[in-house]
Amino acid sequence: MYCPATESASRNPGAASPTPKRSVDELTEDRKDLCIVVSRVPYQENDLVLGLLTRTGGLVSVVARSARSSRRRFQGVLDLFVAFDAGFSRGRGGLPVLTMAEPVRFFPGILENLDLLEVGQSMIQAVRDLLRDAPSSPALFDNVLLAFEYLEKAEPSLAHLVLLDLVLSISAELGQVPEDGVCPGCGRISTRFAVSTDGQVLCVEHCLPGPVPAIPFPEGCAARKPMSDNPASGPAPWQPDRERSMELVSALVSGITGFPGHAGR
Ligand SMILES: [Zn+2]
Repeated sequence: MYCPATESASRNPGAASPTPKRSVDELTEDRKDLCIVVSRVPYQENDLVLGLLTRTGGLVSVVARSARSSRRRFQGVLDLFVAFDAGFSRGRGGLPVLTMAEPVRFFPGILENLDLLEVGQSMIQAVRDLLRDAPSSPALFDNVLLAFEYLEKAEPSLAHLVLLDLVLSISAELGQVPEDGVCPGCGRISTRFAVSTDGQVLCVEHCLPGPVPAIPFPEGCAARKPMSDNPASGPAPWQPDRERSMELVSALVSGITGFPGHAGR
């Protein structure tokens, strides 16, 4: 998993660096960041290793000491669908250690409906898969929280549209989908797009010609900015049904990550 502190340390080993003081500071300085949990793995007797999506640092792995032995220590903050301010300190040679976790926002509505919960879990899995080896931005983090907010208010039968919209917004950040109808492959404006085998959404006219088996992209969707409004608040012309949504999510995520069998299936 991507860890900015470890990465900068390995790229910048010791005194040979032109800015040695700064890199030492980065290694020892305590950090704070807004984040959400994307994975939880039990570690040793009492600890948890958490995968966190942080607002400014992307995906990181941290150890939450005594998170399993003491319920009071982090008080339900380290569950899914909670945004919290986290403090980290560098562990001695290992993963960063979670030193504090102050809840900022809960999304209890997601937990109260099984359909919403299922879609929410697929969202977290998609975030984890798509950002494993990719950089992340504060805007992308904000979109994940917005997706949680939309999901809480979603009509359960339309909840799949929030998942699709979040995956599209992450794909847009990675330069994989058309923006304002402009094909990311050839730069021309088009209205007909399809998902290529590497997860790019390309124009059918120039980039995916011929009888190549590609999944058609919903008409009207390319002109729309993902996460600009709640797609699950009411029917709109671009909206595919649940089966098509999941097919698109699957094609986008597996194309980008190169691995089959992830979120949305
Ligand atoms: Zn094109």
